[in-house]
Amino acid sequence: MPETNLPIDFESQMLELLGQAEFEQFKEAINTPSHTSIRLNSAKFFLLTWANTPISWSSTGFFLEERPSFTLDPAIHAGAYYVQEASSIFIEHILHSLNIPKGIYLDLAAAPGGKSTLLSSYLGNEGMLVANEVIQSRAQILKENIIKWGLGNAIVTNNDPEHFGPLEGFFDLVVVDAPCSGEGMFRKDPQAREEWSIDNVQLCSARQKRIMDQAGALVKADGYLVYSTCTFNEQENEEMIRFLTEEFSYEPVRIPLESTWNIRETSVETEGKTFYGYRFFPHLVKGEGFFITVMKRSSEAYIQEPKRIKDFKHPYLKEVWNRESSDLDDELRFDGSGKYYTLNDSYFRISKDWNLHFQKISQHLSLKYFGVEIGKKQKRDWIPTHEWALSILPKHGFPSHELSETEAIEFLRKNDFEISGLPIGWVLITFKNLPLGWVKNLGNRVNNYYPKEWRIRM
Ligand code: SAM
Repeated sequence: MPETNLPIDFESQMLELLGQAEFEQFKEAINTPSHTSIRLNSAKFFLLTWANTPISWSSTGFFLEERPSFTLDPAIHAGAYYVQEASSIFIEHILHSLNIPKGIYLDLAAAPGGKSTLLSSYLGNEGMLVANEVIQSRAQILKENIIKWGLGNAIVTNNDPEHFGPLEGFFDLVVVDAPCSGEGMFRKDPQAREEWSIDNVQLCSARQKRIMDQAGALVKADGYLVYSTCTFNEQENEEMIRFLTEEFSYEPVRIPLESTWNIRETSVETEGKTFYGYRFFPHLVKGEGFFITVMKRSSEAYIQEPKRIKDFKHPYLKEVWNRESSDLDDELRFDGSGKYYTLNDSYFRISKDWNLHFQKISQHLSLKYFGVEIGKKQKRDWIPTHEWALSILPKHGFPSHELSETEAIEFLRKNDFEISGLPIGWVLITFKNLPLGWVKNLGNRVNNYYPKEWRIRM
């Protein structure tokens, strides 16, 4: 680890926040190696065999004693777990301890997908998540991670926060994990120290205000807003609480904490009320620097329920009508809770319960992915997608074949390899019973259908 080489202005800011003695501990902590932690996908069964200790505020998060080679672990490619920093997993505690009602959620700054996969797990089949990312290349990574997680309850969009104007009062929960000056990443990412300046903090704070000016309006009456950063300064944290409460009508929310967690609560007096924020310092918690706050929209705020669209029209999506939908359910042996659309002749399935919300979203936002893409139908046969393989939807009618770890890595490298005893046609490839993708046995050869752009290059 490099010696502490902190910007002078940052040192003064932290001294003010922590005092001399604690600041010394802070400096020491950011010069020690960071911890490795993962969060399990409870919808996919995976037995954790690495030495681990649970993360206290989570039921699915674990610290690993050593960092394995994740890229060479087939289970990560099957979406069995997500590598996520412990402090940011705290959102799991927020959802459960406040019993936040499930419904239609928005993660406005979602890539690469840490918080989105967590929200998707919390919602299960009782909600729908819009996972949005403004930067196109990052939206692609987000889409991949959502597909691997496989719950089929998410819509991935690639939009600027400004495009969400027509969705005012639409969401039960809006999460904004804002782009920030990254002070909490000084340990993990030493370059963040070099990029830090007071001017950059001001720039980040101004950008966050632009984002929150949109985001604050998207929450419906009695819905929740979660704002987080991975930075310590007050301009990007407490000041945002003041900004939000001055712009919109929000009520304070206090998160129950265990004293042993060492998370530091801060309070902000504004608009005649006390609001709360939570700071994670690396010398106090086993995790990186983080700040999070929760507030509840007042009951008088606007609620926008999606209306039935009589003749749903979309530039590239086609709605599948009821008769064909129930035929599909019968044929695929799905439980009948899905609504189907086609895009370029490929079928997509989304929960019927959230179809009106989906239609409204599809009219205003740029869709990158939604629900589960099942595949194309050719006469009586299906050409199944990789997305379906990784989803938790059943794959009745397809045989499966379990691979050893070495074989699974060859499969993920998209190499050709010998598999004996394989039935003819499409075969679902699994590792430790977790689906990894498809092969097609043509009799004289076996084609590996692992997506080229996803293959392991190590
Ligand atoms: N929530 C993510 C997770 O848990 O994996 C991490 C989000 S990261 C801290 C912030 C994200 O905001 C980045 O993906 C970045 O591309 C995006 N972003 C950058 N500028 C933005 C803007 N003006 N509006 C909205 N999002 C922006």
